Amino acid sequence: MNLPIRARLTLLYCAVLGLTFVAFFWICDLGFRHSIETTVNDSSRTNLDTVRRLLANSASQGDESVRAELRDLSNLWANGALLEVADAKGTWLFRSPQFLRASPSLPQLAASDIAFFTTNLDSSQYRVALGLVEVAGARFEIHAAVPTEPFDQALDRFRIIEKEALPLLVVLASLLGYWLSGKSLQPVNRIIETAEQIGAQNLSRRLEVPEPRDELRRLTETLNAMLARIEASFQRITQFTADASHDLRTPVAMIRTTAEIALRRSRPAEEYRDVLSRILLTSVETSGLLENLLTLARADAGAAGLEMLPLDLNAHLRRAQEQGAVLAAGKSLSITLRTPDMPVWIRADEIAIHRLLLILIDNAVKYTPPGGHCEIALSQNQDHAHLAVKDSGIGIPESDLDFIFERFRRADRARSRETPGAGLGLAIARWITQMHGGTITAESTLGMGSVFHIHLPITAA
Ligand code: ADP
Repeated sequence: MNLPIRARLTLLYCAVLGLTFVAFFWICDLGFRHSIETTVNDSSRTNLDTVRRLLANSASQGDESVRAELRDLSNLWANGALLEVADAKGTWLFRSPQFLRASPSLPQLAASDIAFFTTNLDSSQYRVALGLVEVAGARFEIHAAVPTEPFDQALDRFRIIEKEALPLLVVLASLLGYWLSGKSLQPVNRIIETAEQIGAQNLSRRLEVPEPRDELRRLTETLNAMLARIEASFQRITQFTADASHDLRTPVAMIRTTAEIALRRSRPAEEYRDVLSRILLTSVETSGLLENLLTLARADAGAAGLEMLPLDLNAHLRRAQEQGAVLAAGKSLSITLRTPDMPVWIRADEIAIHRLLLILIDNAVKYTPPGGHCEIALSQNQDHAHLAVKDSGIGIPESDLDFIFERFRRADRARSRETPGAGLGLAIARWITQMHGGTITAESTLGMGSVFHIHLPITAA
């Protein structure tokens, strides 16, 4: 159903109240009819008792006297009550004219009992009390009837009121429902209005939190928390784009200026070679930076596509160390490897793990002065593999340890400036470890060296 909530609530309200009114009127009708029946039964029974008392008093005085007394009694009843009395042989002692004219077929009574019956006499409806009585040894059959018409009229009037009141009440209920649902939806409309105004330009704006501690308050608080998260991500993305553009502009400008200067006049082949090799070096660094940016962008989009397979970290570490040794040789650094004698199985993406190891080894070599030493140690306990990459390098100030894993963050910029890098390596390293269900931490003493610890869950071979 595409109806707005307000209309749906009103319809529901209307239906529920309409049904309640119908049920209420039906119960009233039932009660009314039951009360009419009790009243007319009581009334005809009272009349029957009066006749019985009359017979008890006058039966001994002979039939004629009884007839006269019954006639008098019948005349005395002003509310249209009727009566007829027969003796044991079935001879009528008295019959009200209506009984006489209609001669209704009334049920046979079994014993000295009282029964009630509804019948039409002279086109009016009567409730008849039938009674078999014994007075001074003689049996009489008494029929005492009271008209039900006045009661039926009252019932009819009540039903007319019912019919007129029901639609009116339903209309009133709809109006009330419409007003009530509108009132209860007011805060929702306010939330919609504010939410419609929130965009990229004013992401710091928040929804107004309603006073009462109800579902709407929880909804607004949840939406506000969501907005805060979106704002933080948005800021991160903006910052990332700004930093990435800045870091890309520098090498591109460098390549351009170098080429422009070289082309201003003709130069010997030696100079061209020198310029071209500088341009090549910068291009290689820029491709590396682009590669890193792409990795992080894919990671953000959740489209990194890692293929997790069982991998022997021990064997893999040896291959990475061989590559690292080539880097270290250029700076006269030594790299030692301490590993257990058995394979260390993890579930991992081989390319990603290789990248993680190279980032750490590359940093260790990069930030350790010539003649220093790097050590890579692998161990495992019951559920984790522990990799420690240690160097005797320049170290990291304690205040910087917290943020070196963030994008574009470099510790102690003045010192880092001498070494190439954009501050993306450790961000990628942290992302890779997290994707493998592991952790990465750093310890360092300034001027003494650093150690990076990686814990990764192990798996059965
Ligand atoms: P990059 O090396 O490109 O600057 P990283 O994300 O790999 O970026 O490292 C972030 C910063 O952490 C580096 O700029 C450096 O200041 C510091 N760092 C990382 N590894 C080491 C290390 N082994 N020794 C000293 N400082 C380090």
